[in-house]
Amino acid sequence: MSRISSVDLRLAIRELGLSGRAVCAHSSLRSFGDLEGGADAFVEAFLSEHCTLLVPSFSWSFCVAPPEGMRPLRNAFDYERGFTSPVRASTYTPDTDAIDDDMGAIPRAVVRRPDRIRGAHPLCSFAAVGTEAGAIIERQAPLGVFAPLAALADREGFVLLAGVGLPNMTLIHLAERRAGRQPFRRWAKMASGEVIEAASGGCGAGFDALEPILAPITRERKVGDSRWRVFPARETVEIAARAIAENPQVTRCADPSCLLCADAIAGGPI
Ligand SMILES: [Zn+2]
Repeated sequence: MSRISSVDLRLAIRELGLSGRAVCAHSSLRSFGDLEGGADAFVEAFLSEHCTLLVPSFSWSFCVAPPEGMRPLRNAFDYERGFTSPVRASTYTPDTDAIDDDMGAIPRAVVRRPDRIRGAHPLCSFAAVGTEAGAIIERQAPLGVFAPLAALADREGFVLLAGVGLPNMTLIHLAERRAGRQPFRRWAKMASGEVIEAASGGCGAGFDALEPILAPITRERKVGDSRWRVFPARETVEIAARAIAENPQVTRCADPSCLLCADAIAGGPI
C-alpha cells in the first residue's frame, strides 16, 4: 500500500491545474492507500493551494413521508408502498453536522470544519471551504438543488473524481436538468413544522456510459494508489447535456426494473 503525504497531494493538485480554482471533489479516502493526516489532510491540501473545495453533504435521514397534495406523478416513488418517517428530534439547518454515513470521510471532514458553508437543502446539501465557498453555496435552496454545481460551472471550476467513478458525479444530474429532465421531488420537515418539497437527482449507476465522450476533456493522474480524474465543469455539463438530449437512454443503468431511471428518462415528475 502506498503511503502519501500532503506534499504528494499538493503536487497532484498543482499538476492537474487545480490550484486557485473551485473544485467539487467526489472521493474514496480508502483508494489513496495510507494518507498521512487522513481526510483533514486532503481538505488542508486544497486550501493550501488556494482552492475552494466543494463536496456533496447529503442527509437523507431528514426525508419524511410525502404529504397529500405533494405527490407528483412520474416521481420514482411508490406512494402506495407507505413510507415511515424517521423520528428525529431535530430538523435540518445549514448549521447541523448531520451527514449520511455513506457520504464518506472527506465530506464528513468538511462538514465538521467551523469555517465551512453548507447549503440550505435539507436532503442534498453541498458544503464548501475556501474563498469562494459563500458565492458557490449561497443559492442552494430546496428546489434549487444543483445551484452550487451551476455556480461551479459558471466560474470555470472542476470536478475531481478521486478513486471513484462517473456514477458519483452529481454534475451529471445538472446535465440531466439542462437536457430537460425535472428533478425528483422528496420531502423534509422544516423547523417551523411545515413539510416542504425538495428536489433531488436520481440514479447515476449508468453514467459510466458517458466516459468515452468525456475522455477528450479529462485529465488523469495517479496519487498513491488512487486514480484521480479531473473534468472542467462547464464543458462537462454541456457535453453530457447534449448527449442526454440526443439519446435519453444513455444514462439508463443495468437494472431493468430501476424506477429512478425509467421516470428520469421519461422526463421526471409531472
Ligand atoms: Zn437506475
